[in-house]
Amino acid sequence: MKTPLLQDAANTPELLQQTLAEAIRYLAQVDDAKVTTPHAGQLLTSLDAQGLGAAGALHYFQDHYAQTLSASPGPRYFGLVTGGSTPAAIMGDWLTAAYDQNAAGLDGTSTPAIERETVNLLRQLFDLPAEFSGAFVSGATMSNFVGLALARQWWGRQHGVNVAADGLIGLPKLTILSGAPHSSVFKALSMLGIGRNHIQLVPLMAQREAIDIEALRQALRDQHGTPCIVVGNAGTVNTVDFDDFGALAALKHEFNFWLHIDGAFGGFAAASPHYAYLLAGWQIADSIAIDLHKWLNVPYDSAVQFSRHLDLQIEVFQNAGAAYMGDIDRRNPPFVHLTPESSRRWRALPAWFTLMAYGKAGHSNIVEQCCAHAKALGERIAAEPRLKLLAPVRMNVACFTLANLENEAADFAANVSRYLAAVNAEGKAYFTPTVYKGVPAIRAAFSNWRTSAADVVMAWQSLLAHLPRS
Ligand SMILES: *Cc1c(COP(=O)(O)O)cnc(C)c1O
Repeated sequence: MKTPLLQDAANTPELLQQTLAEAIRYLAQVDDAKVTTPHAGQLLTSLDAQGLGAAGALHYFQDHYAQTLSASPGPRYFGLVTGGSTPAAIMGDWLTAAYDQNAAGLDGTSTPAIERETVNLLRQLFDLPAEFSGAFVSGATMSNFVGLALARQWWGRQHGVNVAADGLIGLPKLTILSGAPHSSVFKALSMLGIGRNHIQLVPLMAQREAIDIEALRQALRDQHGTPCIVVGNAGTVNTVDFDDFGALAALKHEFNFWLHIDGAFGGFAAASPHYAYLLAGWQIADSIAIDLHKWLNVPYDSAVQFSRHLDLQIEVFQNAGAAYMGDIDRRNPPFVHLTPESSRRWRALPAWFTLMAYGKAGHSNIVEQCCAHAKALGERIAAEPRLKLLAPVRMNVACFTLANLENEAADFAANVSRYLAAVNAEGKAYFTPTVYKGVPAIRAAFSNWRTSAADVVMAWQSLLAHLPRS
């Protein structure tokens, strides 16, 4: 008797058609589906002895799990910063699986050349000079990790130590200065052996999440010439605020620091003529992190890391000693020597597809539409006496809370979370909580091409319907 695998092998075209039908079904309902589901799904408790076959697995999945997924790729999921997927990006992602290339970048396939080409397209989208090399990683967390790993290597060199070879032991304390760093920066420092506690938070400007440049200048003076790392922020999650990169560039001429910029989604300001000014001067950075599964609208998981220091990158990430990989070509090093992974998924292909399909104008439009929706929601919030907009809508996030701030603090936090839970339970729209300058709040983040003005109205109706009567 043929095994399920051999039967499937003979039946692959039909199985892919069934998969296509399921994908079409899901995407056709995602605009109208309830945004979240309370169902956790039922776990299959045992590994089937023979296997169900691919069609059997698909039917089992459809019966037990398909209805338990969220509509997070849909138009009214405003939690975290959650991008959708463009049609072209989904095509590229499917083909990535079918082609199943190892994008480690060794000989015999064009995948490394196409990844470099895609990085070049991204450089054009983000208006970055050719001195930046880049590589695909799984998300902005890893992109921050790579940038900070290079920073650590640079810093070691300043002390005459190759940290990649000899570690951090015996070196002095490494200081990282930042205004409003993302949680993933702390995580990256933990993974890098630098330590979460070595971030020194620099005061922010009043009513802003951007770093106070004079306070930063003082913090740099306090280093007394010892090299350090500055993490600049391009797009904070609560209010999409940007550090003043022109001022940071000027400080870089005065003081000895590595500048890493976390532009996970704020980097997309570069794609829009209306918002590019927010990044003026950011080209001075040593390394930059940008997520692609957020605002480029490619499927998870995808981000790009840019750096000006290929030599340091090879020092840190070389898969050295693997004789079968040969000598490293230092001008075009294989990606296996540039990122944390060795074998890698060919993440460049979905990005290549969407960039080729929609070009600069298409992706610039996605950014501007999302910002227009955030602004429209922000205006409604500002005009509603029972809500309070906590910051001007700079780009694609509206950060707001209930207006009855005079409540006892504990009551207030409970009221906000009850309100948010009621909105999310209705399932018309989905938002995530935050705390902004000590105030419990709600964020509405727009980063999906599918969202329309009608979706904003629907989300607004849900926000109004659940407002506590005061
Ligand atoms: C989302 C985000 C990250 C982390 O990105 P992941 O893709 O979740 O790894 C880092 N920085 C900022 C500013 C972000 O918005």
